[in-house]
Amino acid sequence: MKPLCQRARSSCGACCGLYNRAGHGEDAIRDRLDARTDALSGVARTREAFRAAAARIAASEPPPIFPSVRVCPLLGWLDPERMRVGCLAHPAVTGGADLRDEGVYDTSICESFLCPSHSWLTEEEAEIVDVTCADAHLYGLVVTDVPFVRAVLEAVGRLVGGRIERRHLDREPVRAALRRLLALKEELEPGSEGLFGAFRPGPDGEPVPRSIDYAAIEREGSPWDAILLCVGADPRSGNDLDRIEAEVRERLDATARAIRV
Ligand code: SF4
Ligand code: SF4
Repeated sequence: MKPLCQRARSSCGACCGLYNRAGHGEDAIRDRLDARTDALSGVARTREAFRAAAARIAASEPPPIFPSVRVCPLLGWLDPERMRVGCLAHPAVTGGADLRDEGVYDTSICESFLCPSHSWLTEEEAEIVDVTCADAHLYGLVVTDVPFVRAVLEAVGRLVGGRIERRHLDREPVRAALRRLLALKEELEPGSEGLFGAFRPGPDGEPVPRSIDYAAIEREGSPWDAILLCVGADPRSGNDLDRIEAEVRERLDATARAIRV
């Protein structure tokens, strides 16, 4: 499995806390990455200067959603076009100095950590997510939520009567339809639990598993329960279950139609 963090078309900063600030819509996240990249651009490549800059940046940002998940102020844009998110303290970016000790972890953790998706996703699934998302925002929301990826691919496969494969994504209409389905992750109510997969913040800040309480809203379960759970389609998280279920069904059908053409 090739690392998931920097792929051919997409990049991820989830474990550096990309989505863990109050105010985690795409625009707010991009603004935050802009501000960090600008703030660090003129800073001397020394430990002291980066430590001070990291403290200034952190103090200027809103609080985390999950207090137990750290948010690193050294995560920013790697490229002039500001399309690729990554570590601005990495020696490949600073031009030599390894300044990752001045982030919220230390160099050895940053260097060695690989999230569980690396062992759970197959290379083909990873390729499908990379090719379909092809960005620095939706990709990280999706690639870190293996149950969501599996539930979506399994549901599409059920409709077309076979497994969706990487080769299907060579066709732009299939990519667009599947991306629209995955983009449910970006369209949830502000603060929705679905942004973080099938978990929610517990009282101590640790993630705890969720389930949709269908009985409480007096309805049967859904054939798309696995997808709905991952996107947080639970009225208690501010989302309209029936509306999201209809969206899931419509986007699944559209993806299946695009594959069948
Ligand atoms: S969450 Fe996983 S894929 Fe994303 S940057 Fe961290 S290790 Fe890489
Ligand atoms: S220093 Fe570590 S935690 Fe911070 S952005 Fe770099 S890799 Fe992520």
